[in-house]
Amino acid sequence: MSEGPAYGFDTLQIHAGARPDPATGARQVPIYQTTAYVFRDAEHAAALFNLQEVGYIYSRLTNPTVAALQERVATLEGGQGAVCCSSGHAAQIMALFPLMAPGRNVVASTRLYGGTVTQFSHTIRRFGWSAKFVDTEDLDAVRAAIDDDTRALFCETIANPGGYITDLDALAKIADEAGIPLIVDNTSATPYLCRPIEHGATLVVHSLTKYLTGNGTVTGGAVVDSGKFDWSASDKFPSLSAPEPAYHGLKFHETFGPLAFTFHGIAVGLRDLGMTLNPQAAHYTLLGIETLSLRMKKHVENAEIVARWLESDPRVEHVTYAGLESSPYHERMARICPKGAGALFTFAVKGGYEACVKLVDSLQIFSHVANLGDARSLIIHSASTTHRQLTPEQQKAAGAEPNVVRVSIGLEDPSDLIADLDQALTAATGETR
Ligand SMILES: *Cc1c(COP(=O)(O)O)cnc(C)c1O
Repeated sequence: MSEGPAYGFDTLQIHAGARPDPATGARQVPIYQTTAYVFRDAEHAAALFNLQEVGYIYSRLTNPTVAALQERVATLEGGQGAVCCSSGHAAQIMALFPLMAPGRNVVASTRLYGGTVTQFSHTIRRFGWSAKFVDTEDLDAVRAAIDDDTRALFCETIANPGGYITDLDALAKIADEAGIPLIVDNTSATPYLCRPIEHGATLVVHSLTKYLTGNGTVTGGAVVDSGKFDWSASDKFPSLSAPEPAYHGLKFHETFGPLAFTFHGIAVGLRDLGMTLNPQAAHYTLLGIETLSLRMKKHVENAEIVARWLESDPRVEHVTYAGLESSPYHERMARICPKGAGALFTFAVKGGYEACVKLVDSLQIFSHVANLGDARSLIIHSASTTHRQLTPEQQKAAGAEPNVVRVSIGLEDPSDLIADLDQALTAATGETR
């Protein structure tokens, strides 16, 4: 069931990539807890190692449970193929790895998950790669940042933490004109709310850790390829267009066409970087995705109710949620993610830093954690935790000012979430609504 258009999203989230187990008829995808696979004979083994035949060799590269998940995520995103990896951060390295080389750069949005800013600012420099951060609202600045060494443009659909929605179509046009791929982190939107490939993205990356699994049990990631980019149109992407010495001079793009990026991700990326997702984690994520649309509908519904309640509260200074009519990104939501703006937003509390800390400590249902996209409602005061090392200017740029908290609205009864916020705001500010 990999051919998308014939089936609706709710059908595909349950069936894509899964078929009754050929050995036992098992209806649910079995957890293939195995490291290696027996070759039929020496000729079969040789064909697999030469990439002349597709099959299972060793679970660092491929595993049937992980393969089912790869097919499901690729199908839901409308892509040609996907590679799953051990975390969302691993997926980002796996997305850049075939494109980059020492001296090359990625142009990235300033509005990104904090961990991605750190990965791109510091760690990728060890590979000789670099990132140039630009405000993606300024399209001229994006164009100006792209130079001869730029190999990708990177952004998030709904950017963490401030309820910002990226104009994917505009960025895709710029990337296209520059002959480079647009990579979109679709973690906080999920393919239920937005399918970036339909807006021109070449690659989509995910942290499976968040909504796709949906219950805070797994760390995982995925890279989905649209299959639409012509890697051979220039000499910018030799890993995909030029002969690969480790496979007897095979050219991935010439040989695998729209599956070139996916095959390279498995045959070179997972083989040599080893950022493999384990089959147990893939199983949990497959179970989670079965209810993705149901959960996202409820996440959005709850987030809208809670955000509206907070916006009308005198103890709250402002709420940044694109689902609110007051958001500057509300109109863009209709084009990029018409089913809703997700369930992640920030709000500012009267009384600043001290009031925020008290608020977080007074909540009963909301958990104070550095995570998002859980069935449970979560909260974090960035200025005293994830962003405490930053200067005030950096905190402001990241939407993590001292008076701001970030919430990830879960699937509980919205009236209970509101009651919890109400009592905690009273404790934090000394004022009642
Ligand atoms: C969590 C997250 C990541 C990183 O994913 P991990 O699975 O924690 O490595 C990347 N991007 C976004 C938007 C995230 O929320």
